[in-house]
Amino acid sequence: KVMADQIAAGEVVARPASCVKELVENSLDAGATRIEVSLAEGGIACVTVTDDGEGMSPEDALLAFHRHATSKVREPRDLARIRTLGFRGEALAAIASVARVRLITRARGEESGVLVRVEGGEMHPPEPIGAPFGTTLEVRDLFFNTPARLKYLRSPQTEQARSLEVVQRESLAHPEVAFVCKTERQVLFQTPGRGDAREVWAALYGVGEARMLLEIEGAAGDCALRGYVGRPTQARSSRQHGYLFINGRPVRNPALQQAVERAYGERLMVGRYPVYALYLEMDPALIDPNVHPQKWEVRLSEERDICALVESAVRAALDSAML
Ligand code: ADP
Ligand code: MG
Repeated sequence: KVMADQIAAGEVVARPASCVKELVENSLDAGATRIEVSLAEGGIACVTVTDDGEGMSPEDALLAFHRHATSKVREPRDLARIRTLGFRGEALAAIASVARVRLITRARGEESGVLVRVEGGEMHPPEPIGAPFGTTLEVRDLFFNTPARLKYLRSPQTEQARSLEVVQRESLAHPEVAFVCKTERQVLFQTPGRGDAREVWAALYGVGEARMLLEIEGAAGDCALRGYVGRPTQARSSRQHGYLFINGRPVRNPALQQAVERAYGERLMVGRYPVYALYLEMDPALIDPNVHPQKWEVRLSEERDICALVESAVRAALDSAML
């Protein structure tokens, strides 16, 4: 079992940032309103994610580390309408097979919390422990038992930057959640969690940049679009400041990216790319998130219509600002 989990780990967890992504998604799925991510040595020594979500009963805390144990998909047809971010039930098992993990969790209504320790896939008996409501997952010494993978990690600074990027992207995806990302020494990034994407943008790029954004809105069929696009003067020299979210999930989709860029057309200088945060809500049946193990690349079944929606909404916003 440990072997199989370690193999799965190769797909799910490549570096500290992938742990951060999986743990933060679990916290979001648990309905957290506050999520704190702490990184020691860029997350290589330790990643800790604490949330105020629904927590787990002691029984669920033990089950959480079993491969394909997910509380999120109960029947095969659920797979067609995935709303939650996780659904494969392999992240925790995979992470715990290649690290020393401590889970402390307490569900509402439980007298106390429970501590479950798993080291390299070996589970220790659960212990009761005092804890606030919610969940803390600590992932220490990632790849301590798979030295070949440890070798592929970059410097603590680089790994930290990747984790920070994950937190920033998730916080933009969920402005209603207050995020904190910190090291032992300092707070790297935080958001107020008041539901305002402009405030998150301000935390990322400064208040001035956030104020300049243009609001967009649109709908086509069962697909709703809202969000913000930057003015042409806010464009940057890389595409990484264009964010797409579908049903609360950060995604990459080249066709949608191009649709946004087409809307800017001549308004952009050569080598400049627009900044934006676009939120699409659609029937989950239209999305196939299963194409990439890290659930980042998505395939859409009505891609042309959705691209047309995005292009026209962005163009309308730029036109009405007369840019
Ligand atoms: P998945 O998210 O695909 O269901 P995971 O391995 O990431 O699988 O998590 C396994 C299970 O552990 C989840 O289905 C959930 O029931 C529970 N779980 C994990 N993290 C949390 C959390 N932060 N709060 C509450 N429950 C959690
Ligand atoms: Mg998960």
